[in-house]
Amino acid sequence: MWRIVCTHGPQVADMNCWSLSDPKERFYSSKTRQIHATHLTTGDRLWSNMPYLRPLATITEDTIAYGFDDDGAGVHDVIGSRCDPYTHFLMTGEDYNHCCHSNLTRAATHDGLTEMDVHDVLNVFMCTGFTRDTNQYFTKPSPVEVGDYIEFLAETDLLVSASTCPQGDVSMACGGGGEPDVYPLGVEIYKLDDSFLREKGWSPSDVSKYGGNHGL
Ligand SMILES: [Zn+2]
Repeated sequence: MWRIVCTHGPQVADMNCWSLSDPKERFYSSKTRQIHATHLTTGDRLWSNMPYLRPLATITEDTIAYGFDDDGAGVHDVIGSRCDPYTHFLMTGEDYNHCCHSNLTRAATHDGLTEMDVHDVLNVFMCTGFTRDTNQYFTKPSPVEVGDYIEFLAETDLLVSASTCPQGDVSMACGGGGEPDVYPLGVEIYKLDDSFLREKGWSPSDVSKYGGNHGL
């Protein structure tokens, strides 16, 4: 079980996760969005890609519990991807190496993976939505406050990585100039008592039993 905790100030994080035993299996943001919603909260699960398609983790607590506001914005989205140096270059013509994609890539390399293993993220603490008139993506300053956290139960052994976004709480428009305030985030990891999990009827999740081979 792990928590991402707001310890110093409003800050969003871009999170990836992989099966520890086979990192080809990783978080599948679009299927998660299809199964649950555009924004995740307590009880929602982080599903893995095909052909595995199983819960990698379940959100067991979300202290923000933002719901959806009058603009249709929510928190902890699976609609944005992640800030990346390629889009940044497209917008500014400048090289920048500390976008979430690059931060995740450096961490992935450290873990024996490559840039190609970095995938669409869960945007922890990020407040986003689609405009009501044109259905375009927008961001708002994150409502996260010191002491807030989101908590996950790992449904199998995982490798998890997260980037504190250089846009901080995303209160400034991307590429709009100015220096956002950025803060570290806390990560807490808990080992649950096996008997507690057994008593609750919990067992590790299994990969999909589909065996049809697509009609081939
Ligand atoms: Zn970012």
